[in-house]
Amino acid sequence: MINVAIDGPAGAGKSTIAKAAAKALGFIYVDTGALYRTIALNAVRTGVIDDTDKIIEMLGCTDVKLGFADDGTQCVYLNGEDVSSQIRTPEISMGASKVSAIPKVREFLLDLQRDIAKENNVIMDGRDIATVVLPDAKPKIFLYASPECRAERRYKELIEKGESVSYEDVLADVNQRDYQDSHREIAPLKPTENSVMADTSSLTLDESIDLIINVIKENIQ
Ligand code: C5P
Repeated sequence: MINVAIDGPAGAGKSTIAKAAAKALGFIYVDTGALYRTIALNAVRTGVIDDTDKIIEMLGCTDVKLGFADDGTQCVYLNGEDVSSQIRTPEISMGASKVSAIPKVREFLLDLQRDIAKENNVIMDGRDIATVVLPDAKPKIFLYASPECRAERRYKELIEKGESVSYEDVLADVNQRDYQDSHREIAPLKPTENSVMADTSSLTLDESIDLIINVIKENIQ
């Protein structure tokens, strides 16, 4: 199976770029952030988001599954309920960053991610795909852009969805999540020695997609 890892900070365009590349190449696109978001949603719903021990306890009655539609669209299920859109709020973004720092949460989601990659050609996007989940992935791509550029993109996305947010708050969230994701003890966000570094700050979306497709094609031949 071909396993491509794409890691990088929030808002670098990973999901849009990886999704488009997967479609062009006929691979399944796996958005692992959705898994952490789903754990966070359950923690918020059950009122335990600020209590690590209770989050760990909650895992015992948390069933997370991924589903893929024929057109490759990923859906995520929490105890059988499709929560794909409920997990896309700033509150859940921050909650996901919080729960993802808990080793037991990462362990809980590991096999689910590896099993999908064992059975399918995948482009998997996350923070620790190259370093932990799929260490044999090829290529390993580290996709990034400046914090300001990422905040601008996410701000536009949220406004289009009708959320009322300010650019300053989005930038503060991006910086806080970057800090949390790259400074946590377990599986911190970082490239590996042989990661292909891709900076999308000055690229259009189409240019970024082409770049990634080319990197993948060059590495899977
Ligand atoms: O990619 P997305 O923004 O949806 O991820 C939400 C949060 O989940 C990230 O900020 C990160 O803390 C966490 N995450 C992770 N490992 C992954 C994917 C996401 O820790 N593989």
